[in-house]
Amino acid sequence: MNYKLSRSNFRHLVVGADTKIPLFNSQFVTAINFDNAASTPPFVSVMEEINKFSTMYSSIHRGTGYKSKVSSQLFEEARSIILNFVNADPLRDTVIFVKNTTEAINKLSYRLWEGNKKSVILSTWMEHHSNDLPWRNKFQVDYIQTDSFGKLSLGDLENKLTKHKGNVKLVTVTGASNVTGYVNPIHKIAELAHRYQAKILVDGAQLVPHNAVNMKPKNPLHHIDYLAFSAHKMYAPFGIGVLIAPQETFNKGISEFVGGGTAEIVTHDWVVWDNPPHKEEAGSPNVMGVVALVAAIKTLTAVGMRTIDHYENELTNYANLKLRSIPGITLYAQTAPGEPRIGVIPFNIKGIAHEQVATILSNEAGIAVRTGCFCTQPYIQKLLSISPQQMEFYRRSGNAARPGIVRLSFGLYNDFSEINTLCQILEKISKHPT
Ligand code: PLP
Repeated sequence: MNYKLSRSNFRHLVVGADTKIPLFNSQFVTAINFDNAASTPPFVSVMEEINKFSTMYSSIHRGTGYKSKVSSQLFEEARSIILNFVNADPLRDTVIFVKNTTEAINKLSYRLWEGNKKSVILSTWMEHHSNDLPWRNKFQVDYIQTDSFGKLSLGDLENKLTKHKGNVKLVTVTGASNVTGYVNPIHKIAELAHRYQAKILVDGAQLVPHNAVNMKPKNPLHHIDYLAFSAHKMYAPFGIGVLIAPQETFNKGISEFVGGGTAEIVTHDWVVWDNPPHKEEAGSPNVMGVVALVAAIKTLTAVGMRTIDHYENELTNYANLKLRSIPGITLYAQTAPGEPRIGVIPFNIKGIAHEQVATILSNEAGIAVRTGCFCTQPYIQKLLSISPQQMEFYRRSGNAARPGIVRLSFGLYNDFSEINTLCQILEKISKHPT
């Protein structure tokens, strides 16, 4: 490990990495962003591409003007670039553009639903609400257990596949946890799901920006059927995300949203729907967002997903090492050397509320972190051993301070020196909790 490296080689790739911000005492410091699991800053290349594209900005598909044709071509070409990025099957799979991961999963839940609650979806204890709530009102949902470290239990997955034999439609699992950073063995999970005739959806919101994702490895049992992710977590803007799925998923039935762009022929008596993906993309799409996402993918590919994974692992190991020596700290995620993990570190400091740690970090050093439950409440309840009775108490008591965790999450532009600054402040806090 090269801990002497103090500046990231990739810092110049993002916009605003060295932005000066005022502290509460009006002094200016360089902002430190350890909240990349929420959203990353855009790449410089992404903003350049947006600027360049703005000269061709035009509505797509049915326009006959030159700009419209160029915009349509960029939009359609983006699908194969995205399929290629995650090694999806260009002949069977399709890319559906949506707003974000949440919309992608809601769409899939709607399209897999058969109008009753007979089928079972296996979700997990570590899911973001976006990969839990959309399934609840349409399916029976059973949750695969996590162990005492918060890691997914493949044994429990197999138990539940056996218990619901033949009735599990889908195993839906996050590729990497937004709370602990654990990376799930998606190909092993796929194999188990497929052995029981179930499909697999990977929520790639946290995995895709940090690790190479291979939807179609050699062994067909390991194939990932569905993948969802968001551009705003991978150095492109908000408002664009992707659902990758076999085209046949959308052949029957109609989308949850219909309107312009979804139909070929419309009379007042009948409709001929367009083919997927178009029948799933109602209304004028976010062409600028798609162009930006492609630019981000090109930059991620140029840097190399392996390089990114390696560098972010070094940052994570370094931070873990330093954090461990801070008195009163509890680190909620533990991985053995070499165990896959993304750069997410959850912790608390004894005697001081999670929100207060975040406020001090922001006020004293311009460090942005996130605190609370990260839209993953059942997982946090389990990690913090919060009982259903306590949850009932929080529900009744309205404004009572809620339990939670402080989360650091790294991007490829973060530095070892930023971690040093963080640890200095945390050490101070831990010695004088207020
Ligand atoms: N899934 C995971 C694991 C996430 O971390 C998030 C966001 O933090 C989401 C889904 C939802 O992503 P979005 O808000 O882009 O829809």
